[in-house]
Amino acid sequence: MRLVVLGPPGAGKGTQAVKLAEQFACADVATGDIFRANVAEGTELGRAAQEYMDRGDLVPDEVVIAMVMERLASDDCDSGFVLDGFPRTVNQAEALDRRLAGLGTPLEAALSFDVTEEELLRRLAGRAAAQHRADDAEQTIRHRLEVFAIKTRPLIDYYRHRRLLTMVDGVGRVEEVTGRILGGLPSANGGRDPALALAG
Ligand code: AMP
Repeated sequence: MRLVVLGPPGAGKGTQAVKLAEQFACADVATGDIFRANVAEGTELGRAAQEYMDRGDLVPDEVVIAMVMERLASDDCDSGFVLDGFPRTVNQAEALDRRLAGLGTPLEAALSFDVTEEELLRRLAGRAAAQHRADDAEQTIRHRLEVFAIKTRPLIDYYRHRRLLTMVDGVGRVEEVTGRILGGLPSANGGRDPALALAG
């Protein structure tokens, strides 16, 4: 399975991406996690990304695209991938399309998580308290939501035009949302009942 997950911060993409990668036995590639690990290790990539992350801005396309292209060349991506947090701009989506077209392995689906702003703010405030993520401070959260609306939301139409888009109602228990996603991806479970597919 080759899948991208789109959605504003707090929409539950990360949680679902982990479940889906397990379900499809493919790689879970979360760009935010890769950046945070690099910041923690003090690598050059981490230093390049940190100021943008702290402000709630996007890391420049060329940095992110180079990082993701390198990651997709790893062996564990041969069986497919769930890309969580990438693409976030039309430029990034086009770079991904070009790479996958070159390999003859196009994207199979794009999931877009739908959650009201009120629910997002509630969840993000909880996450800030629990995980001490600097970029979950309230002002930064609002900025990240704006950045999503301006830079990333156009990708919904981008993938809709390519007939790859599946909208996901992101409100509910984690297992409920996973079930909805699997139910909406008919090729995803080999035609099995989604509940059975989830049970393993
Ligand atoms: P996330 O954990 O996905 O919310 O990402 C945390 C931060 O990492 C974002 O606010 C951006 O600063 C940066 N980041 C992650 N993925 C991307 C991307 N595809 N393009 C640009 N910046 C990104």
